[in-house]
Amino acid sequence: SVKANGRNGLQLFQEEMAQRSMQHFTLEAALRNAIDNHELEVHYQPKVDVKTGAICSSEALLRWTHPELGHVSPAKFIPLAEENGLIESIDQWVMNQVCQQLKQWQTQGIAVTTAINVSPISLRHRNLVKEVKDLLNHYDIQPELLQLEITESAFIDDIEGVATQLKTLNDFGVTVALDDFGTGYSSLSYLALLPINELKIDGSFIQNIPDCKNSDMLFKAITGMAKNLKLKVVVEGVETQRQLDYVKQLGCDVVQGYLTGRPSTASVLEAALLKQNALETV
Ligand code: C2E
Ligand code: MG
Ligand code: MG
Ligand code: MG
Repeated sequence: SVKANGRNGLQLFQEEMAQRSMQHFTLEAALRNAIDNHELEVHYQPKVDVKTGAICSSEALLRWTHPELGHVSPAKFIPLAEENGLIESIDQWVMNQVCQQLKQWQTQGIAVTTAINVSPISLRHRNLVKEVKDLLNHYDIQPELLQLEITESAFIDDIEGVATQLKTLNDFGVTVALDDFGTGYSSLSYLALLPINELKIDGSFIQNIPDCKNSDMLFKAITGMAKNLKLKVVVEGVETQRQLDYVKQLGCDVVQGYLTGRPSTASVLEAALLKQNALETV
């Protein structure tokens, strides 16, 4: 019987729960100190023009290396930070780092529009218009060099307020990308309500392409719609030449994936951009 093991099902369950909340607590405590302990670093992944093969922009992706836990995936700590409110200071820190980097690149003659991911929580709580304008002013950066990637989310209850903030920033020159398109439920209404310049098709769509008929049909429907709406189409998660050929044939504008460049340090992207600049001036 269960009793013979010395622990019954309930006890096991309680132990597991305690262990899980302990892990949760440890991770949360660690994350609280991550900024102060300099454990966070912004990496950059190139976004590549499908027609020319040149790097046309980049996305800032946060990396966390804890001395004991090692690398912790954003897929793990971002949702945690969204639960406990830390996301606001994290997003703020990233935005500041990116602007600092853009300034440094500017002095080297490198102009690469860089996107930052803005959590729906940050969108709702922070005065993004003032923060972004202050930062761009402070570092003396063209607004066109900054892009905001937003996702549809149940967190946003005040969609009109968010739309107003984004419109103001958009008029100012900051572009907006709708991230992970196709994975949520309110994508189409977001397209109507928000000032979106760029549509990023979620990586899950390209995964089964071109072999899966359904994925193929969905992909074509999304790109067709995006074109009609005059949106720039970015395909995330492109890993193979076959996938690249497919999106090229469909007339997608930009790819972002391991095939054309993994997320890496600022200096790696910088080297690639300097090389590209040198080739262009030959
Ligand atoms: P995302 O914004 O959709 O970012 C794209 C994710 O796809 C990144 O995962 C990137 O490393 C990964 N990726 C890029 N190319 C490929 C590919 O060819 N194949 C595959 N399998 N994956 C690819 P990452 O860096 O782990 O970030 C996960 C998510 O965490 C991001 O998804 C974003 O939602 C969030 N995130 C990352 N940094 C930040 C940040 O600074 N602030 C906020 N609020 N969220 C962030
Ligand atoms: Mg993104
Ligand atoms: Mg995405
Ligand atoms: Mg995402």
